[in-house]
Amino acid sequence: MRFSLPVQQIVLATGNKGKVAEFASLFEQYSIKVSPQSEFLVSDVAETGTTFVENAIIKARHASQETKLPAIADDSGLVIDALHGAPGIFSARYSGKHGDDVGNYQKVLDELSGVKNRKAKFVCALAFMRHAKDPTPILCLGEWQGEIAQAPSGDGGFGYDPIFFLPEHNCSAAELDKATKNAESHRGKALKQLMQAVETLI
Ligand code: IMP
Repeated sequence: MRFSLPVQQIVLATGNKGKVAEFASLFEQYSIKVSPQSEFLVSDVAETGTTFVENAIIKARHASQETKLPAIADDSGLVIDALHGAPGIFSARYSGKHGDDVGNYQKVLDELSGVKNRKAKFVCALAFMRHAKDPTPILCLGEWQGEIAQAPSGDGGFGYDPIFFLPEHNCSAAELDKATKNAESHRGKALKQLMQAVETLI
C-alpha cells in the first residue's frame, strides 16, 4: 500500500533548483508535488532570526502565508568553534557579498590564520509548517563535523566545501563524491529526519 498524506502539494521556500529537485524526488512516493515558491511569486522575507531554526521557520511561515499551502524551508551554514560560531547564519554573505564563495572561505582562512583549533561543522535546519499558524512545526537539525583546512582543495560541491576537511575521508568536501556527501552531510541527515517524521504523519 502507498502512503498518502492529506496534502497534495507543498511549497518549498527556496529558489535553488537543485534543492527543489531533491525534495520533489523524495515526496514523489507520497504523490505530493513540491513546488518552488517562485511559482507563486512569493515575496522576499527578512531573515531576522539569530539561529538557523528561527530563520527556517520564518521562511516556511512566510511561504505558507502567501501560498496557503504547507511549506518547507531550510537554512544552513558553517559553524566554527574558534570563531564563536561564525560565519553561522551569515554564511552566504560572510565576506559582505551574497554568494561570493571564494571571498567567504578566504575570509575564514584569513581569520583562522595561525589558529590551532580548526574544529567546525555544517548545520542544516529544516522547518515543515502545515499552515502559516502551525504551532508545532516539524523541525529537523542535521550536523556534519569536520575541520577547516589550511588551504582550499577540490573543485566539486559549492560554498565552503573546498576548505571543509573530513579526517575520516582524508579529503575536503569538495573532493568527496556526490553520493557520499548526500548521505553524510548536514542536509542529508536533516532530510532523512524529515522523511521519517513525514512517515509518522501518514
Ligand atoms: P543555504 O541556507 O543552504 O542557502 O546555505 C547558506 C550558505 O551556507 C551557503 O551559501 C554556503 O556558503 C554555506 N553552505 C551551506 N551548506 C553547504 C555545503 O553543503 N557546502 C558548502 N557550503 C555550504
